[in-house]
Amino acid sequence: MKIGPVILFGPPGAGKGTQAKRIADKFGIPQISTGDLLRENVEKGTELGQNARQIMQRGELVPDRMVCDMVAERLKGGDCERGFILDGFPRTVTQAVWLDNYLVENTVFDNANGTRAAFVLRFVVEYNALLQRLTGRRTCPTCGRIYNVHTQPPRVAEVCDLDGSRLVTRKDDQEEVIAERLKAYEAQTLPLVEYYHKRNRLLEINGDRPVDVVTAEALRAIEHGNSL
Ligand SMILES: [Zn+2]
Repeated sequence: MKIGPVILFGPPGAGKGTQAKRIADKFGIPQISTGDLLRENVEKGTELGQNARQIMQRGELVPDRMVCDMVAERLKGGDCERGFILDGFPRTVTQAVWLDNYLVENTVFDNANGTRAAFVLRFVVEYNALLQRLTGRRTCPTCGRIYNVHTQPPRVAEVCDLDGSRLVTRKDDQEEVIAERLKAYEAQTLPLVEYYHKRNRLLEINGDRPVDVVTAEALRAIEHGNSL
């Protein structure tokens, strides 16, 4: 079955990473994360990677053009022909427009219906629920294991199962820092949500339910989205 391009949106804590992996496994299509691509290019020392590294070392954002080039390079892989999941891309409307054009220009990306439009799934979790999930994270300072007081608690409260160390809340997991991250995410994503919504290619999924229920709905949506 041809799946075509699938884009996942979801704030930190919405479970997007877990869902991406499950969708990729179910359909046997690759999951492409621009964060991973960037790291790979830097590690392999490709021309793109070297340029990107210099930019990041100056503390600047890697420009749209370079990110798009990296994605284009990755999509040439034969494993992308039946479909692929994009995670962390597009991040700007410029990137979204580029992707739409790229897919139209490249015949290998025809999905089951002969269209080449990316389909977007947006995992939505209410702000307070996200905040609760994210502030529940605890880390073991000794072995680095991560717990969540709500979803993955240690056997004894605030104590690591493996080595008995007292768990800590990392700075990144404190409420003010998380609130800032969530706000920044919303501000960044809103224009993209509007872009895909206007084109009837955005489907929202309530992510505030058991993981399996969310997965089942995501899989149905992708199959259905492909038969529209
Ligand atoms: Zn530990």
